[in-house]
Amino acid sequence: LVLDNLGGSLKKSIRNIVGKGRISEKDVKELNKEIQRALLKSDVDVRMVKALTDRIKKRALDEKPPKGASAREHIINIVYDELVNIVGKGTEIPVEEQDIMLVGLQGSGKTTTAAKLAYYFKNKGLKTGVICADTHRPGAYSQLKKLCGEVNCLFYGEQESEDAVSVVKNGLKELNKTEVRIVDTAGRHSLESDLITEMEEIEETVGADRTYLVIDASIGKGVKKQANAFNDAIGIDGVIITKLDGTAKGGGALTAVSETDTKIAFIGSGEKYEEFEEFDPDSFISRLLGMGDIQKLMHRAEERLDPEDMDMESMMKGDLTLKDVYQQLESITKLGPLKQIMSMLPTGPQKLPDDALDITKEKMEKFRIIMDSMTDEELEKPQVIGSSRVKRIARGSGTSREEVNELLKYHKMMKKLMKNMRGKRLPMNKMMKKF
Ligand code: GDP
Repeated sequence: LVLDNLGGSLKKSIRNIVGKGRISEKDVKELNKEIQRALLKSDVDVRMVKALTDRIKKRALDEKPPKGASAREHIINIVYDELVNIVGKGTEIPVEEQDIMLVGLQGSGKTTTAAKLAYYFKNKGLKTGVICADTHRPGAYSQLKKLCGEVNCLFYGEQESEDAVSVVKNGLKELNKTEVRIVDTAGRHSLESDLITEMEEIEETVGADRTYLVIDASIGKGVKKQANAFNDAIGIDGVIITKLDGTAKGGGALTAVSETDTKIAFIGSGEKYEEFEEFDPDSFISRLLGMGDIQKLMHRAEERLDPEDMDMESMMKGDLTLKDVYQQLESITKLGPLKQIMSMLPTGPQKLPDDALDITKEKMEKFRIIMDSMTDEELEKPQVIGSSRVKRIARGSGTSREEVNELLKYHKMMKKLMKNMRGKRLPMNKMMKKF
């Protein structure tokens, strides 16, 4: 993800800060140097970086840590606060019936984003349809139609038509049973006057509740100019920044929006329709700082899981049995690729065996067979399983020692993870509140 540099180098320098009470001037200097290096590398504006580190320094040296907080916790809080400030606030995304219009330059990712948005609202339980009003780009119609098929939402378009306004009119009529209608408009290479005229006409026809500007993150700080130009021309409710996965300039794009009259609504970080999320500065920065993103994870869990599936209490218990682990693996695999899940936990990415990042159904089946060959004692307390027992279990279950060890590795890892999670006060509180 963008600004990844920051997460890694911050963790390192924050780890060096130890002890109680106030942080030393030398420590702040070190830390600020890391922050500057990482942000500049991500193309964040120099003045912005300077102002940010000045504020961090002042607060770290002037403010007394809250009672009971260590110097390290104190500095993390300050850095967190200030970073949330520089990426700006996100916009509120209403989950209700609405007409959405997407505008932006050609190639910015509008069509992809239309499908991503449809998927987003569909997941929220709203009946969603997409209208292809891009009558300029030859491939737009079939591309969007195909994407809508994948997302499984309604689609309207007229392959032969050159009259975008009439397509929109017909589409709105055709999709009048849907709750969220998303209109993908044509882009150009630059903000030309005929593009503006067409956008205005479509806007009038749609009577859009929300108009989002789609911008490619790789233009970096140029986002600011573009956002302001479109905002002046037709008025936009929020910016969607795409392709944050493929650029070092993402920092520039993210922070530049905070200097415009508009806010970031969503961010896209891949070509697939799931690689898209509401922009929430809090969760974005906490993930960056390796505080994890429990809120988001829980949110996803709510969307995709039976609450019964996820037995948090047993997860939080220190004495994790293999059955717990199996159950957790099963729940977690429902949430998405394990690697992604792990990166959202407050402990940050965990070291996992490479082939384990994607636990398949087959693997789960194998784990079950392995567990069938274990004694109750072994299931309850996997710690007792030494190499001779591993050999016996592998033989008994017709699997290999590596496979048995892999299951045990998950147990160890999850146990450690749970222990770490209990140690993090802040996100834990938030998480428990959710329950
Ligand atoms: P449009 O001309 O604005 O409709 O742009 P498209 O939706 O056709 O996107 C242009 C290209 O960017 C396509 O190849 C997309 O797959 C790709 N794209 C869109 N969004 C993202 C993203 O978030 N990450 C990456 N890596 N590629 C993206």
